[in-house]
Amino acid sequence: MLTIHQAKEAILKHTHLCDSIIIHIEHALNKILSCDIYSPIDLPPFPQSSMDGYAFKYSSLSTHQSFEVIYKIAAGDQSSYEVSESEAVRIFTGAPIPKGADTVVMQEKAGIKDGRLHVLDPNLTQGANYRNKGSEIKAGSIALLQGTRITPAAIGFLASMGIQEIEVYGDPTVCILVTGDELNPLGQALQFGKVFDSNSYTLSAAFKQAGINTIAVKHIPDQIETLTQTLRDAVKEFDIIVLTGGVSVGDFDFVTKAAEGAGVHTVFHKIKQKPGKPMYCGTYENKFVFGLPGNPASALTCFYEYIEPAIKKMMGTTSAIQIITAPITEMYKKPSGLTHFLKAKFDGTLATPLDAQESFRLKSFAIANALIVIIEETTQVNKGDLVEVHLLP
Ligand code: AMP
Ligand code: MG
Repeated sequence: MLTIHQAKEAILKHTHLCDSIIIHIEHALNKILSCDIYSPIDLPPFPQSSMDGYAFKYSSLSTHQSFEVIYKIAAGDQSSYEVSESEAVRIFTGAPIPKGADTVVMQEKAGIKDGRLHVLDPNLTQGANYRNKGSEIKAGSIALLQGTRITPAAIGFLASMGIQEIEVYGDPTVCILVTGDELNPLGQALQFGKVFDSNSYTLSAAFKQAGINTIAVKHIPDQIETLTQTLRDAVKEFDIIVLTGGVSVGDFDFVTKAAEGAGVHTVFHKIKQKPGKPMYCGTYENKFVFGLPGNPASALTCFYEYIEPAIKKMMGTTSAIQIITAPITEMYKKPSGLTHFLKAKFDGTLATPLDAQESFRLKSFAIANALIVIIEETTQVNKGDLVEVHLLP
């Protein structure tokens, strides 16, 4: 049986980067650039006023008491203007500064008398409020580096350079195979002996949150032949196959046998952890097959600890789960041997384990924002001890 670190390493070792795709910036939020981006233009594309005010030639201040205001230039004005040493123009934020002018005095510090500008700002310096052409970025220079995550600001920056399409890492396609003859679909009256299927919803949401766009869900009976055939088809069609249920050693737990039958190479089966001990990981060419326990809290814990970091790596980035240490608010005892993941609430300073830690329950997970990690060999932590905390996205 692997330790949690061995299991994580084994998975990351088998991850492949997704192929690049070209997408419109409108759809690029949170994607990762797969190559450097160069600016196709100078930005600003022309010398630009950063204030509402008056533009003139600064050196003329030593020889002129006032300037004749000859034009009014609004933002978007496409005419080309020029001013002489004795002239100024009324200008507005974002408007092109005319040839001959190199400084803008803001309107609050300008006096206008008989159509003439008097500069009333003793602290004005040459070049004030003048944005040079290309001062933000020059045509041909690097705007954003490969590996950058596309944020709203990055989308705006790209748009400001006129860039519509970019190359980013794609996201893996995912198929969730739900096993369990006891599962009752949502929308159908709950039959005796059955439970509602929650895992397909939990996992779909978790994959969606991690940036996955293609998520198929299939329900399979607890029957080895059907499961094997479905898996055989799924590994050809999808990048990641996640099975839930049937991964333990019960009479109806067929996942590992089905994986074998489908030609999946086993990377590991079982991790020294609670919950989620029976987790399975296999590969088929560069595809992943993950077998997660059916118990809802186990399945989601395994997703966060192992699958989320793997898919983030495939998409060119790192896990969104932040790892910190924080004092625990109460004593916790356990036997040595397994790492425990505890559903917890982190309040910004302290980490509190929640009630109802059993793996069949989602009640505490539904309000948790963190997992506390108590490693294998530890048998007791006391109130106030620093523990590892994984902050959930
Ligand atoms: P298994 O891992 O198949 O032995 O299932 C362990 C427990 O998880 C059983 O109580 C199942 O009924 C439950 N379970 C399995 N799959 C699901 C699911 N998709 N949604 C909710 N509970 C499930
Ligand atoms: Mg089952």
